[in-house]
Amino acid sequence: MEVTLVILKPSAVQRKILGEVISRFEKKGIQIVGLKMMQLTDETLEEHYAHLKDKPFFGRIKDSMQASPVIVMALKGLDAVNVVRKLTGVTNGRDAQPGTIRGDYGMSVQENIVHASDSPETAAIELKRFFSDNEIFNYSSFLLPYLYANDEL
Ligand code: UDP
Ligand code: MG
Repeated sequence: MEVTLVILKPSAVQRKILGEVISRFEKKGIQIVGLKMMQLTDETLEEHYAHLKDKPFFGRIKDSMQASPVIVMALKGLDAVNVVRKLTGVTNGRDAQPGTIRGDYGMSVQENIVHASDSPETAAIELKRFFSDNEIFNYSSFLLPYLYANDEL
């Protein structure tokens, strides 16, 4: 099973759609194994969005991500990284497919509701960035036989 990182951005917190967005992951069959609220620092964002650090708009991305606390979640499932990216949709909310979180809730590139790790390697790094080991839980999900065939696990 893979674990991936999701951040519910200030656009989700302020618009009061946290429950709805979290519910989408739960209904899909993904297990929440870590969840907390935190205020992101400059240092964390410079690391997290290092690939955008030299862009002229990096300052506004940082401001946007610090506009309120965010919720960080560790989500577990078979191929969780890919599944969660698919549920999230493409970066620009105006292009994102209806049915995806960004496609259903957003009109913006920046204010696009969620962050999701883009590969298993990135997920491992990002989970360490936001969670300590004892904040990610290993607990049985009694639904497993109804979520997967036993030869999928
Ligand atoms: N972003 C932006 N303008 C851009 C590119 C990115 O505001 O031209 C923001 C947007 O919120 C995006 C985040 O920076 O979600 C990270 O960008 P990335 O290209 O990694 O997109 P993602 O992986 O989130 O789809
Ligand atoms: Mg990205």
